[in-house]
Amino acid sequence: MKITGAIIELTNNCNYNCVMCPNNKQTRKRGIMSWHTFKTIIDSIGEVEYINFNMLGESLFDKNLVKKIKYARKKHLRANLIIHTNASLPIKDLANSQINQIIVSFYGHDKESYKKIHGVDKFDEVLKNIRSVKSDKISIICNHIKGINNPKKVKDLFKEYKFMSYPTHTFAGGVDTPGQEKDCEMMKEIGVFLWNGDVTTCCMDYDGKNVFGNINKKPLSEILEDLNKAELPVCKTCSLGRLE
Ligand code: SF4
Ligand code: SF4
Repeated sequence: MKITGAIIELTNNCNYNCVMCPNNKQTRKRGIMSWHTFKTIIDSIGEVEYINFNMLGESLFDKNLVKKIKYARKKHLRANLIIHTNASLPIKDLANSQINQIIVSFYGHDKESYKKIHGVDKFDEVLKNIRSVKSDKISIICNHIKGINNPKKVKDLFKEYKFMSYPTHTFAGGVDTPGQEKDCEMMKEIGVFLWNGDVTTCCMDYDGKNVFGNINKKPLSEILEDLNKAELPVCKTCSLGRLE
């Protein structure tokens, strides 16, 4: 099996407490991906269409973030490099990091709604950080959360940027936000790497219960073969379907 895209969790630490995210429900250890683990992943994945620096945490906490993005670019010249961030820390440097897309999690349309959804009072600060990036590569992605999030009002705040909206999900029962009912479509060809090198099925697995290998212990090709034999408990409670 060959993967066509990679999701790399640089850290599972986060300073937010968003209503649609199970970050604070994790029982797995928290940390930041070592350079060794990162390099092993980047050197192992072969040619991929994209690398997404995101899983369940705020990547800006990784002090080697720009260095890591640059290394990924050096090794994967044609891959689309994407980062998700809450932009609560300065993101200006990312514009020169050779990243293709900066996706900012920004779901509130004013101070009150922002605090209600994200659990922190940083509306003005984050707006300022987002606008400090003078780049036409930035995209603002908004999860539509029925009854809480107002995509139209958020869109009005970011007229100068691209805007996308997609429905949220329950993280296999990790949160109570509305879930999508559809077939599991994203997982078979995507390598999902947690900060400690564990390899799992998808971003629904916020607590590492579907882990079927570790990149520091086995070559990726062997780990991917093990997927067929792995027990995948998170799939049993996932609204996105089952991995066949
Ligand atoms: S959605 Fe992102 S910013 Fe919010 S708690 Fe989860 S990881 Fe942190
Ligand atoms: S069915 Fe399993 S592999 Fe597919 S999205 Fe859900 S948890 Fe992930």
